[in-house]
Amino acid sequence: TTKLELLSENTKQSAQLFENAKKVIPGGVTANIKYIAPHPIIMEKGKGSKLYDVDKNEYIDYLLCYGALILGHGYPSVFEAAMGQMKEAGTTIFGTPHRLETVMAEKLISLYPGIEMVRFTNSGLEATLLAIRTAMAYTGKQKLAKFEGHYHGGYDQVLLSVNPEVEQAGDAVIPNAVPESQGIPDYYVENTVILPFNDLASTEKILRARAHEISSIIMEPIQGGFIPADQEFITGLRALTEELGILLIFDEVKTGFRLSLGGAQKKYGIKPDLTALGKVLGGGFPVGAIGGKKEIMQISAPDRGRDILTAGAENKNKNDALFHSGTYNGHPTILASGLATIEVLEREGTMEALFFNTRSLRNQLEDVYKRYDIPMQTVGEGSIFNIILSKSRIKNYRDMGKADTTLRKKLDYELLKLGVYTKPLNRYSMSVVHTEEDITRTVEAHEKAIKIVQK
Ligand code: PLP
Repeated sequence: TTKLELLSENTKQSAQLFENAKKVIPGGVTANIKYIAPHPIIMEKGKGSKLYDVDKNEYIDYLLCYGALILGHGYPSVFEAAMGQMKEAGTTIFGTPHRLETVMAEKLISLYPGIEMVRFTNSGLEATLLAIRTAMAYTGKQKLAKFEGHYHGGYDQVLLSVNPEVEQAGDAVIPNAVPESQGIPDYYVENTVILPFNDLASTEKILRARAHEISSIIMEPIQGGFIPADQEFITGLRALTEELGILLIFDEVKTGFRLSLGGAQKKYGIKPDLTALGKVLGGGFPVGAIGGKKEIMQISAPDRGRDILTAGAENKNKNDALFHSGTYNGHPTILASGLATIEVLEREGTMEALFFNTRSLRNQLEDVYKRYDIPMQTVGEGSIFNIILSKSRIKNYRDMGKADTTLRKKLDYELLKLGVYTKPLNRYSMSVVHTEEDITRTVEAHEKAIKIVQK
């Protein structure tokens, strides 16, 4: 037998289980993002702000399932809501309409300025896909515009220029469309317009030239969950898209319930035409939602205001509604846990305390790096931030190239060994159950990690 390569002396079980996984699962992971060399840490328990691995190590969790777990692990009222819903219904799912769909739709409409009607999906990916299709159907135009560095889910149409090699990405002010994966048809490369984030003048130039063919712009109002759009940029973009007949889609899968209860749109005071939600909305279960203006959303209504029996009998105009389906859409167990999650976030002072703690962690981390003369800034808004090892201003994808990712990665590996969990180079998400003690321990771990890598 060959010797197992270990992340640390304390992760032997993880390494062994990963060896077994690799035999039956390509790369040993069911999502590429979950891979960590030499082996991921295999978790077996979660509680509050902590994760516990198969070797019984404890970690303060800042990954929080990529931001989904805003209440941390195992929040009691979320557990009760999910189990209570199943018990009461006597089933996991009905496969028919049910009351919670309307309750959740009404909740989202009350919180998000740009949402007047709602449809549910099973993931953030499906939500952005449906938003893009809706925009194409509504405008009758066939091209999509997206920003360089923005992620909208793992499918062909948007797996372009998320994290491109700079040599392939071309001019910063007119970026090329670069596929992020093998297997992306040229069609999408040719029919997707890539825009430079936080550069209104260059974006305007591209849009004015191509407005006749662009159906919508999809964007993360906060790139990667941590690089905010400048207010002037996002206000200008809203005005420009209105003028040019291009729909504006906010992908708030990360920012929803995290930047504010009404997402980035509430914070910026901007009404997008369509919004995609996910993550926090499911209370830790898979979910997505698309919301938007009534007039636009109505195009997926099957009856389109007609008598459906007559329309069916005539069997014509079959394709004039937008197709949207899904076996599990609007899953009652998931909506129950999502509603329980929102109920906690709506309690007075909860979001403020979350933001206060996030700010406190950011400030203390900045102080530590300063003491050790490492150029560092935290970049973020609300309950998410990232650690950028550079003092230059970070406003888009190209700026990220200025950061020292080699040092960051070394530190992140030491932090894993010290019990601070996030994927190397990933952003930090906070939960409402992270305590002052967690923050202090995290700051101390960073100081230890710095000392180790500076040796
Ligand atoms: N959009 C954004 C901004 C995301 O961050 C993600 C996931 O990380 C998605 C879409 C895709 O969501 P899901 O992973 O639920 O398909």
